[in-house]
Amino acid sequence: MTDVASVRPAQVDLGRAVERYQQQTPRSRAHFAHAAERLAGGTTRTTVFFEPYPPVMVRGEGCWTEDLDGNRRIDFLANYTSLILGHAHPEVNCAVTEQVGRGSAFAAPTPHELRLAELISTRVPSVERLRFTNSGTEATLFALRLARAFTRRDKVLIFEGGYHGTHDYAAAAASAGIPSAVRGTVLSAPYNDLEAVARVVREAGDDLAAIIVEPYLGQAGIPVRPEFLHGLRELTRGNGSLLILDEVISLRLAPGGAQQHYDVVPDLTTMGKIIGGGYPVAAFGGRADVMALLDPRGSGPAIPHGGTFNGNPVGAVAGITTLELLTPAVYARLNRLGDELRARLGALFDRLGVAVQVTGLGSLFNVHFSREPIFDYASSRAGANATSRAAMLALLNEGVMLAPRGLGCITTPMDTPELAALEQALERVLTSAA
Ligand code: PMP
Repeated sequence: MTDVASVRPAQVDLGRAVERYQQQTPRSRAHFAHAAERLAGGTTRTTVFFEPYPPVMVRGEGCWTEDLDGNRRIDFLANYTSLILGHAHPEVNCAVTEQVGRGSAFAAPTPHELRLAELISTRVPSVERLRFTNSGTEATLFALRLARAFTRRDKVLIFEGGYHGTHDYAAAAASAGIPSAVRGTVLSAPYNDLEAVARVVREAGDDLAAIIVEPYLGQAGIPVRPEFLHGLRELTRGNGSLLILDEVISLRLAPGGAQQHYDVVPDLTTMGKIIGGGYPVAAFGGRADVMALLDPRGSGPAIPHGGTFNGNPVGAVAGITTLELLTPAVYARLNRLGDELRARLGALFDRLGVAVQVTGLGSLFNVHFSREPIFDYASSRAGANATSRAAMLALLNEGVMLAPRGLGCITTPMDTPELAALEQALERVLTSAA
C-alpha cells in the first residue's frame, strides 16, 4: 500500500453527481415525492434511504437490477448481502412457485422447516437446536432474552457500531424512544479492543448475561481480529455469561459461517439473510440446554416464542434450495472473487494516489475514503465522509450499486467482468471522468 503521507484526498463533485442522478432518474424522483405522502419519509426502511432519494426498483435478475427509469445497474449490495445467488435465481423461483401452489403458511409444523434446520445445524454444529423468525431483529431479540433467562442476569454487551437490528436493546445507542431502564442494561465497548471488554466484564461481574458480537462489523466492513474473538470466548466462559455470535451477515463466509473460519464455538448464533434465499427468514439457535427454555412440552416454555410466519414453507423452500446450491466450492469461489476484487481496488487506489482503501473478508468488502488504519467503529468514521457519499451516488450513475456507506458483496452470478466493471466505474468516479 502506498505511504499514507503521499496520497491526496479523493475529490468527487457532489453537485455534479446529484445533477446527473436526477437527470437519470426522473420517475424515481416523482415516485419518491408521491410516496412521501403515504410512507413515512417516502420509504419503509431507513437503511435504503439516501439523499436526494433512492432509485425505485422494478426488476432484478442475476446480479443486475433495473429501476423505474430503465437504468440497469450491477448490484453489489444484493439486498444488504442477503441475495447470495443474485436476484430471481431460477431454481429458487421454481421451488417457491411450487410451494405457493401447495399453500403459503399453516398454523402447524411443516417438513420444510425441519429440512432447513437440519441443513443449517449440519453446517453450523454449535447450533444444536434452533428456531426460525422472520427477521434478524427478532433473532437477536430472542438470543438476548434467552441469555438473560438462562443466566438470570440482566446486562448485555453490544459493541460500538455493532448492528443487530431495530429492537430496543439493539437500538439503545442510536434511537429515541428507548426506556432508560433498557438503556441501563446495555453496556458498550469498542470493537477489537479486548482490554476494554475485559474492564467492562470485570465491572459488570455477575450482572452480565451475554456479549453479542458480529464476526465482521457490517456497518464498517471490519473483520474481527481472531485473538479478540477467542478472547471474548474466554472472558464469557470465565464470567458465566453467554457468547452470542451474530452471523446474520457473516454466515456467507464459509459453510459453517465465521465460527468455522475462526474456529470459535459460541453459545448462541443468530442468522438471517442467505438462509432465506431472498425471502424473510432468520433464525437463532445454539446450545441445547439454553434452547430448552423454549420447549413447550410439559409445564410450558419459560420463554414463549410465537410468530405467525415463523418457518413458513415458502421462505423455507427458498432457503433449502439456496443452501443446497451453496456447496463448499461455491463459498471458495465467492471468497476468491472477493480477494481478487480487494486486490484490484487496492492497486487502483495506489495507482491513483488517492486516500481511499478497501477492507473486507471473503465475499464481503467495504470502500472507505481514508487511508488511516480501520479497526473499530470510531476509526471507520473518517472514511465515511461527504466524499464517500458523493462517490456512491456517482457510482450509481455509472451503473454500479453499493451501500451509501461503501459496503458491498459478491454474488454467484458475478465473475471477473463484474469486478472489472466496478473497478473501472470507480476509476471514472475518482478521476472526475464520471
Ligand atoms: N444483525 C446483523 C449483523 C445485521 O447485519 C442485520 C441486518 N442487516 C440484523 C442483525 C437485523 O436483521 P433484519 O434486518 O433482518 O432485522
